[in-house]
Amino acid sequence: MNASKKVAFYTLGCKLNFSETSTIARNFTTEGFKRVDFSEKADIYVINTCSVTENADKRFKTIVKQAQKANPEAFVAAVGCYAQLKPQELADVDGVDLVLGATEKFKITDYINDLSKNDFGEVHSCEISEADFYVGSYSIGDRTRAFLKVQDGCDYKCTYCTIPLARGISRSDTLENVLKNAAEISAQNIKEIVLTGVNIGDYGKGEFGNKKHEHTFYELCEALDEVSGIERLRISSIEPNLLKNETIDFVAQSKTFVPHFHIPLQSGSNDLLKLMRRRYMRELYVDRVKKIKEVMPHACIGVDVIVGFPGETDEHFLETYHFLNELDISYLHVFTYSERDNTPAAAMGGVVPKNIRNKRSKMLRGLSVKKRRAFYESQLGSVRTVLFEGENKEGYIHGFTENYVKVKAPWNPHWVNELKQVRLSHIDEVGLVRFEFVEEVVETETLNANTHR
Ligand code: SF4
Repeated sequence: MNASKKVAFYTLGCKLNFSETSTIARNFTTEGFKRVDFSEKADIYVINTCSVTENADKRFKTIVKQAQKANPEAFVAAVGCYAQLKPQELADVDGVDLVLGATEKFKITDYINDLSKNDFGEVHSCEISEADFYVGSYSIGDRTRAFLKVQDGCDYKCTYCTIPLARGISRSDTLENVLKNAAEISAQNIKEIVLTGVNIGDYGKGEFGNKKHEHTFYELCEALDEVSGIERLRISSIEPNLLKNETIDFVAQSKTFVPHFHIPLQSGSNDLLKLMRRRYMRELYVDRVKKIKEVMPHACIGVDVIVGFPGETDEHFLETYHFLNELDISYLHVFTYSERDNTPAAAMGGVVPKNIRNKRSKMLRGLSVKKRRAFYESQLGSVRTVLFEGENKEGYIHGFTENYVKVKAPWNPHWVNELKQVRLSHIDEVGLVRFEFVEEVVETETLNANTHR
């Protein structure tokens, strides 16, 4: 029935969403659908939504319009976090035919009959407590690196966050299945796997459908390090209180895990960390950074930080600014606080005016540029390994070193998806790093040595 049918996907949000879209897309292909780009004419468009994205609702409507423009007759389906949180709101958007909640999204092909448009958006959602089972996923073919889902949901109660409401309790894939998926990915010549989830440091919880921890995140890393054929493993993001010293030591001596840590901080003020109901104080964060830099001085450390949280005074903000300025970190992801329904923070006093939130966000983004440049400068002259990406951007090829330095060079299709050793030489006018290939360097140095002998 579906041989001639075309399906297109649009993903909003995080690496986890991309890994799930990729798995859902493979299910469609198994059913005989042909996957096309979202800009092309398709019979069905699937939008994987996010609840964290600023203006998620506006973004969603724009994307639905884009699909309708490409094919007004097409069937439009919405899945993902926003679809779980506000199913009826999405179903009421003109052009939407189907909205599936967290328990139904992986069974979307069961809901696809003759693809004729519905008079109104059909909703198949659930109470989030029902989403207590685990479905594995990984992305492949969309990018140079694969996102491998190892964990889902979260049992933490951060006061600004909707993710537990959208994805449910913390649960993990079985170690055996993670290793199987990792082997499948590396068998397809993917050189880098990024471990993803919601709270991956909590890996092992709910592996067999119960609350117990069958394995730890450290054990997961140990086991993955043994899977043959994997060149690079990158930890996407991990809570500071769940990043144990033994894991840091393990990464430092590992063959495959790269020296790059993305660790959410959210605030440099302990008062605000309490209001956010985070599970650590800033002193623990300092310890983690110190430990990492002790055993891996060249490691890259990325930091998530929220500005404008209710109750954040100028003093609190400056505390965060100075805390980050003094910390040996490499870049920031700055999030401007925005109220989310059904979160405790949305009912808190001390609301920070939008213009102040934006001013603070601008200041921290300026600090991030400074930190990234200082980190890149500290790496110049060092020899690193770059994984080159497949997109020709205005005649240039880009790639990332193991410690997440972004490099650039004139486009060369032979380098795509190749791992190559380079010596980082200088930073160009747009802040990206240029390099020489090591064998060339060795050649030149030998040549020089010979000529100078
Ligand atoms: S750890 Fe906190 S911020 Fe992260 S997903 Fe869980 S509740 Fe949300």
